[in-house]
Amino acid sequence: MTVPETHQRMRVDSDGPLGLNRAVAGAPVSATLRMNEAVAARRAAGQRTIHLGFGEAPFPLPMPLREELARAATRTEYAPVLGLPGLRAAIAAYLARTRGLTASPTTVIVGPGSKAVLYALMRSLAGDVLLPTPSWVSYAPQARLAGKRVYPVATDPADGHRLTHETLDAALRAAREAGGDPRLLVVNTPSNPTGGMFAAADAEQIALWARGEGVTILSDEVYAELAHGWRAHVSPARFYPEGTIVTGGMSKAFSAGGWRLGYAALPATAASEELVAAVRSLAGEIWSSAATPIQQAATVAFAFDDTMERFVLRSARIHAHAAARLHVALVEAGVRCPQPAGAFYLYPDFAPWRDQLAKRGVTTSAELADHLLTEWDIATLPASDFGEAPEALRLRLATSMLYAPASATPTDQEAVLNRLLEQADDLPADGASGTTQLALPALDEAAAQLAAFVAAQ
Ligand code: PLP
Repeated sequence: MTVPETHQRMRVDSDGPLGLNRAVAGAPVSATLRMNEAVAARRAAGQRTIHLGFGEAPFPLPMPLREELARAATRTEYAPVLGLPGLRAAIAAYLARTRGLTASPTTVIVGPGSKAVLYALMRSLAGDVLLPTPSWVSYAPQARLAGKRVYPVATDPADGHRLTHETLDAALRAAREAGGDPRLLVVNTPSNPTGGMFAAADAEQIALWARGEGVTILSDEVYAELAHGWRAHVSPARFYPEGTIVTGGMSKAFSAGGWRLGYAALPATAASEELVAAVRSLAGEIWSSAATPIQQAATVAFAFDDTMERFVLRSARIHAHAAARLHVALVEAGVRCPQPAGAFYLYPDFAPWRDQLAKRGVTTSAELADHLLTEWDIATLPASDFGEAPEALRLRLATSMLYAPASATPTDQEAVLNRLLEQADDLPADGASGTTQLALPALDEAAAQLAAFVAAQ
């Protein structure tokens, strides 16, 4: 039976069954997940696809984590809403040891992925949001779902999309003039999509600016461990501990995105108590707790013994090597692209080919991403998914799906990735490409195909 046309329209607030809440009606599927599904469909149809469209850390889980998860399989009880006490303590100690942050177990919140924890925080904190452009695909939708207005903070591609306190100040004034009440600044270092990181002086200036304005910083540091080595990770919490919330998780450094384990470290002050209580109520009504066995295994990860440290360091070196290698290839092909400092992303700008691309009907980043996928078999994400104006001809490239051949069996992929981890010790610690060249054929294919695309313009 076909559905009558009148019933196919969105049933926003309708009297009938299944009417949609206005807050969610029309909300698109998360851009990154949409691209990953499109790539899977192409591959299932036998179409060649160079997957630069999805950022997932792929390395095989370290043995101690597998063993601990197996041991914890019988832990079928709910965990406390804010997380197992041992895990919260381990995360606080980990942040103190690896990042020099003052964290307290009582103000660490654990949840099913940092994405969920970020949303709970946005929902619980007062005020509108200042959001640098470009920034990760989910911040703006989350803020809107939390009932907030989002005010962009401009960055300059010529300056590697650096965030400055001057532009922050301008954005704050503009937001207030527009009737907004911006009280929350979301930052992300290392950055998805640009791979940029705060220089220490910028982290300090941004933090001090926020303190002066009474703005809370939500500092998403989920890629902190994946600095490439030529720039140290510096959290704004170092300079503004009483007003900065740091988030992170298992997805990137420990290659365990599907474990859905994230955290937030709130300021270790009495003033955090009410916020912790608010998030606890929200979490208790929505997810109850992150999965208990996963939390138990995560406690081993954040205890961060030598095995864990070596695994994270090796992973970081491979990400650095791959990103630097693609960066060199892009620059050699004549593409402008900020040098990545962390994570596994690059953010090239194809604006110099605007006229040639326009002749092919490509005038926006979304059209450019479609063109690259359909004509060149290259999956990317358009800048517009990261909050940029449609006509900004930038793309986000993720290297992390190109370390092992997509066509290999999971067992063979694991063997390839384990071999890379073993070779990572020979890579330079400063992210320079050096003389050691890992065998990364899929990455080389991506570089060659991007160069061929540019040469054809
Ligand atoms: N923040 C950024 C910038 C990300 O890129 C991602 C994942 O893609 C997340 C947060 C979400 O991480 P999690 O898996 O902890 O929810």
